[in-house]
Amino acid sequence: MEQTIDGKTIKEWLEAYPLLQPMMAAKEVFWLNPKYEQWNAAAERPFRIDDVLEAEQRLRRFAPFIETAFPETKQTRGIIESPLIEMAHMPKVLETMLEQPLSGTMLLKCDSHLPIAGSIKARGGIYEVLKHAETLALQHGLLSLEDDYSVLAEDTFRSFFSQYTITVGSTGNLGLSIGIMGTKLGFRVNVHMSAEAKRWKKDLLQKNGAYVIEHSSDYSTAVERGRREAEGDPNNYFIDDENSADLFLGYAVAALRLKQQFAEQGIVVDREHPLFVYLPCGVGGAPGGIAFGLKLVFGEAVHCFFAEPTHSPCMLLGMMTGLHDKVSVHDFGLDNQTEADGLAVGRPSRFVGKAVEKLISGIYTVEDRHLLMLLALMKDQEDVALEPSALAGVYGPISLFAKGTSYIEQRQLSEKIKQATHLCWATGGSFVPEEEMEKYYEKGKRYMK
Ligand SMILES: *Cc1c(COP(=O)(O)O)cnc(C)c1O
Repeated sequence: MEQTIDGKTIKEWLEAYPLLQPMMAAKEVFWLNPKYEQWNAAAERPFRIDDVLEAEQRLRRFAPFIETAFPETKQTRGIIESPLIEMAHMPKVLETMLEQPLSGTMLLKCDSHLPIAGSIKARGGIYEVLKHAETLALQHGLLSLEDDYSVLAEDTFRSFFSQYTITVGSTGNLGLSIGIMGTKLGFRVNVHMSAEAKRWKKDLLQKNGAYVIEHSSDYSTAVERGRREAEGDPNNYFIDDENSADLFLGYAVAALRLKQQFAEQGIVVDREHPLFVYLPCGVGGAPGGIAFGLKLVFGEAVHCFFAEPTHSPCMLLGMMTGLHDKVSVHDFGLDNQTEADGLAVGRPSRFVGKAVEKLISGIYTVEDRHLLMLLALMKDQEDVALEPSALAGVYGPISLFAKGTSYIEQRQLSEKIKQATHLCWATGGSFVPEEEMEKYYEKGKRYMK
């Protein structure tokens, strides 16, 4: 019998969505979201700005603890935030690659340099661990909201939290952020790692006292194992990367911080000065939470695009077909093999897909060789070392101007684009060991020959 996906054959899917043809051949595509809607502040949504503000408040309460426990955050007084920089030389290089000029200013959001975890996961992952710790401490009368949270660094709290376990499934970076923060508080942390997780990430976790369970299977299976392990044990808290409102809100806080950084740096974002944001996407939580926050803060002035590897376009498949987590890249013959380990996810989050399906402008895919070439160029031109996943965001302006100009026309942005800001979200890299980075760099250089 012929194989079907949700009752339709591949041929029928291809007729309904012709973009599947190049996607199945692992070619680069640019998809415009037909469900994208003009911003309407009053529309029904799973979260409101108050939810994001509450998450930000919670992170402020924890700042004295973070500053005490992680001296590298001293400068920002325990607030985990990353630099926003203008790329000085990359625009010229990208224009050469593109063979046409780029309109607007090119910025880089350096989550690669977030303290504690060295990736975007220092937002959502750490937030959920802190929220869980606060909930437990409040429930047991050990803490009140008005306290100076630096007490959480004391041994009494560590021994209290040591009765509890936190479990997570990850391709690497989420495990790292949760393991580092969880063990610092005193929790036992079990990290289920999928096949693509790098050795150095596992070693770093073990060095911090977390327990690493290695799987030879992919991300979705690692998450499933973690979920099953935690089931039925009330003292074992599972951080569900596929379905977590807390992760999502932790990521969304980035929008409030970005608004402040724009103000400090004199960067104007409004309908006349549109903001284009390019967010690397794995299961969807990080780009989804950030895009959601950005729409709440900037409304119609911001245009969010997700970026996926050509071999792992799970969110694009899920949103385009409307199947969300009922489809995997394997169903369409793709292997989910990519150098972008943080994006090596075969099945997207339904929760995130539904939450942002009217908010994101589109999704584009990138070949690994382009990620590695950009990695080498970013190092040479801007002296910023990023991991392959992060470069998916840097490819955004190229993809938009090469394949997505109909979006600019449709939304009447042809004039405004000249005063646009393009923000590439650099999602990770500063924790990658030098010899690993060197290997990526050499590969990138080879592709350029
Ligand atoms: C996790 C991760 C992403 C994507 O986040 P998701 O929540 O999985 O979509 C992007 N880049 C890097 C470096 C990551 O670690």
